[in-house]
Amino acid sequence: MEQFLHLPTIMVVYALGTLVVAVISLGIWWRDRSNRAFAVLGLASVAGIVGAVLHGLRLVVPFWLSTGLGFPLAFAGIGLFWSAFAVFDNRRPSYLAAFAGALLSLAIYPLSLFQDSTVFRAVFAAAVFGVYNGLAAWEVYRGGLREPLPFRPLACAINLGHALLWLARIPFALFVAPPVDAQEHYAVWFVGLSLLSALSNMFGMFSLAMLAKDRSERRYRIAAETDALTGLDNRRSFIARTEAMLARPDEATAMLLFDLDHFKSVNDTDGHLAGDRVLVAFSELLRRQMPENAVVARFGGEEFACLLPGAGLDEGRAIADAFRRAVERHLIPFEGRTLSITVSIGVAVIGEGTVTLDLLLASADTMLYLAKAEGRNCVRALQLPGAKAAAAGRGGASDQAGAISGRILHSRPA
Ligand code: GH3
Ligand code: MG
Ligand code: MG
Repeated sequence: MEQFLHLPTIMVVYALGTLVVAVISLGIWWRDRSNRAFAVLGLASVAGIVGAVLHGLRLVVPFWLSTGLGFPLAFAGIGLFWSAFAVFDNRRPSYLAAFAGALLSLAIYPLSLFQDSTVFRAVFAAAVFGVYNGLAAWEVYRGGLREPLPFRPLACAINLGHALLWLARIPFALFVAPPVDAQEHYAVWFVGLSLLSALSNMFGMFSLAMLAKDRSERRYRIAAETDALTGLDNRRSFIARTEAMLARPDEATAMLLFDLDHFKSVNDTDGHLAGDRVLVAFSELLRRQMPENAVVARFGGEEFACLLPGAGLDEGRAIADAFRRAVERHLIPFEGRTLSITVSIGVAVIGEGTVTLDLLLASADTMLYLAKAEGRNCVRALQLPGAKAAAAGRGGASDQAGAISGRILHSRPA
């Protein structure tokens, strides 16, 4: 066995692998200091390497050095490894808890049980490593409740698997064979589990890098889809989401387009910051007032859009008009003054059947134009025939543009 799996060689490979992780982690942190989790992972790796090397030299160096110092360093390493996942999820790690294993091993060092029994030391080390790896798995899981990332389930499984590998040593040490016999021969189970642990330790460390990659991709995606001022979806994201929804036939759908009235005069009279404040207040109201399943977005400037799945003409128009009145009543505090605004809304509704997003938007825009032309602070709505209705009654979907002549409904300011 020892010819195939030579434990000291495994430990050297493990230490070198960990060294690579330490250098890469500290390098990542050096380039971007906001990546504090990698600084903690780097320190964890350094402590782990020194601890493992000292313990690996136990036949060469005195016991107080190989075990008295080697154990606490290795435990500090695994405690910091857990902390790195907490830091990654912006939680303040408890460093007392992270160093508890190291402190405990210093406290029990003088005990004769610790000094004399390799089985006791093996069980103790397995329990400490198992608990900290389990905590790392829990930390990854907890972070996923707030920030789901594609790699989280695998990162959680890797750390949990590693915890189980450590805990498996306990029954082996107690009931199968001591890890090292009187002739200093390692038990086969001990060599095998050490190899697996060294491997999963590498995976555990790389799992943090994979999570960081997922996070940065997620942030770029959110930034590309979100309007920076209001936090609403932007036009691109709105179109991507609603196109998919419109592909689903047989559901009435209302498209609402909003344009703030005389918004330029807010900027001109009260300043650009006041204009921004109005846009933010309007967005908050939009998000609050629209039904749960609505898709809302800022199209740009002072123009907004909302798709209401399942809303027919009456419902779409009623929702638009209730919102128009809410905007009219809404007072927006700004630097000791109160600002107010009104909005014009164009509504286009598709009944059962499909329609292209372009046509729905163009129709709502036509209605918005009408609302502006007819005095602003009002809603104009139009029912479009769906593809099925159009196919039956007219020449087909291509004729839908002509259907803008449909039923126009007026809703006047109260
Ligand atoms: P109407 O009732 O016809 O819609 O008139 P309006 O003044 O609202 O429309 P107009 O298109 O003339 O002006 C829109 C203004 O919106 C012009 C532009 O300076 C302003 N605007 C666009 N984006 C922003 C922004 O992010 N912040 C601020 N404060 N103003 C913006
Ligand atoms: Mg405009
Ligand atoms: Mg406007």
